[in-house]
Amino acid sequence: MKKKKHLIVPVFVSHEGCPYRCSFCDQVKITGTEKKTDRNKLRETLRTHLEGLDRNQLPERRELAFFGGSFTGIPLERQEYLLSSVQPWILSGEIQSIRVSTHALFIDDVRLSMLTKNHVETVELGIQSTDHEVLKLVGRECPFDVIQSAVSKIRERGFRLGLQLMPGLPGDNEHKFQKSVKDVIGLGPDFVRIYPTLVIKNTGLFDMYQQGTYTPWNLERMIEAVKEAVVQFEKAGITVIRVGLHPDQSLLQNYIAGPFHPAFRYLVDSRIARERMIKMIRALKQVPLSVTFRVPARRVSIYLGHKRENLSVIKNIFGLDSIKLQQDTTENHLELVA
Ligand code: SF4
Repeated sequence: MKKKKHLIVPVFVSHEGCPYRCSFCDQVKITGTEKKTDRNKLRETLRTHLEGLDRNQLPERRELAFFGGSFTGIPLERQEYLLSSVQPWILSGEIQSIRVSTHALFIDDVRLSMLTKNHVETVELGIQSTDHEVLKLVGRECPFDVIQSAVSKIRERGFRLGLQLMPGLPGDNEHKFQKSVKDVIGLGPDFVRIYPTLVIKNTGLFDMYQQGTYTPWNLERMIEAVKEAVVQFEKAGITVIRVGLHPDQSLLQNYIAGPFHPAFRYLVDSRIARERMIKMIRALKQVPLSVTFRVPARRVSIYLGHKRENLSVIKNIFGLDSIKLQQDTTENHLELVA
């Protein structure tokens, strides 16, 4: 069996420490219906994920991640309780690091010291948008200078920094989203995640959708917007580690509307590949009737596009008789060979 590279043990602290009632978030209504994570539950989660792993075949990176709330907004004693519960696994080397998701409002020296002491390596901040109006409409107002100051403190302490964006929230548009992308690039994170806004059952957004006061973006609009964002992040040397929500059972059961596709990242990457090919053909002095591209073998399906759509679109644009892809052993090299 192929060795897994990265193991993430997810631990949910649903809505704990949370200052808001963000309209897109289903954690709000989950709260109160779920038993809080305690030491036993945590131990059980760790056992479930670690038991059965071949000790000689352990994934290279093994991380525990606290999801679902604003971790550093949780009272300090409880943060200490949760983090200290993981330490036996850190000391034994079974878990190498901890990741927390939180909000910029709850970043200060005391909290960051607590994270450092307990082997937290990565701090992720949910930014969602840097547009004041969008944040206000979703019930999540936060001045940008608060985010900037939190980011500086996280950086000074040497944590890995992740930032999250959510295009398509109420009041959002392409211009505002690209401005958010630019702002996030300016903050210099190690990585970003982009979650297209979906309407999920039991959220404020669901109520707005039912009342007709919120219309989600369609799939095509979202692919175009996210494509542009990914290009900008890549240009800036920032890794986009996730695009689109993971199509897990809970999402599939609660999804109501919006630009969901189980292979959303693939659709975005294919669109980027298509545009790279178009740009190369446009740069030719004279467009021939047939063209051949040499593409990295492991990315052929991305260049072909969904149902070979990229080839047919390019053929139509330039009136080509044929377009072929030749496989190459390079990692990311694209070349127009004929
Ligand atoms: S998105 Fe985060 S801050 Fe907003 S309600 Fe959900 S858990 Fe709280």
